[in-house]
Amino acid sequence: MRFLAFCLLLPALAMAQTDLPAGFFPPPADAPKIAEGPCPRCEGAGKVDAKYQGLKTGDERLRFRPDCPQCKGRGKCVRNRPVEERIAEQRAILNAYEREQRAAHSTPVGAGFMETDKAEAMAPTERAALAARFPKRCKVCLGLGIDACGKCDGTGLTERRERIKDKDGEMVYETIKEPCEKCNGTGALPCRRCDGSGLAKICSRCDGLGTMEVKAKRNIPAHTALCRACKGDGRR
Ligand SMILES: [Zn+2]
Ligand SMILES: [Zn+2]
Ligand SMILES: [Zn+2]
Ligand SMILES: [Zn+2]
Repeated sequence: MRFLAFCLLLPALAMAQTDLPAGFFPPPADAPKIAEGPCPRCEGAGKVDAKYQGLKTGDERLRFRPDCPQCKGRGKCVRNRPVEERIAEQRAILNAYEREQRAAHSTPVGAGFMETDKAEAMAPTERAALAARFPKRCKVCLGLGIDACGKCDGTGLTERRERIKDKDGEMVYETIKEPCEKCNGTGALPCRRCDGSGLAKICSRCDGLGTMEVKAKRNIPAHTALCRACKGDGRR
């Protein structure tokens, strides 16, 4: 169902890109949230190795249970990517895009870039509307809206030790990995700077409009100009 929605969305996105003004380079897509990778629960083994530790002796032993419940024994699954890994990839994507645009001497417009002469020729309200369509990203989470959960270090899993009796009748500890309660196993909490929106803060000078009304002065009539604080982005 989710896949179907995604397929229907793709042509819509492609269509949205065709009505962009000439010389505008939209920002790249975000680092994906999910990926197939080694199952985090069994670390790719396909079996859950529960650790036994003798209560008196402290020695550790491994016990293999049939199949890992998360990946059904495949050792791989589509999972939420660890938060740190996703933010690092996002940083690499954005840095590459920005380097390329800066080398071409483009001008930032919202989260995108535009050929400088075209950006300067745009009416301030039009430029602000374009920036609002591709809003500037939060500096901390780089637009992803997430922060690594402190309880599970962004892995989505926590360990619990349980006292049980092993097959020889000895009381032992079993280490059990389970989804983190704080982040519901996602490894992510909403970014504190942007409350999870992924967006930069609204510019207080222009209340997010990106433009300002300039009063008539000597021989210059009243007009609308870009906000000097956010340069038309409405966020900073
Ligand atoms: Zn597994
Ligand atoms: Zn943020
Ligand atoms: Zn967590
Ligand atoms: Zn502003």
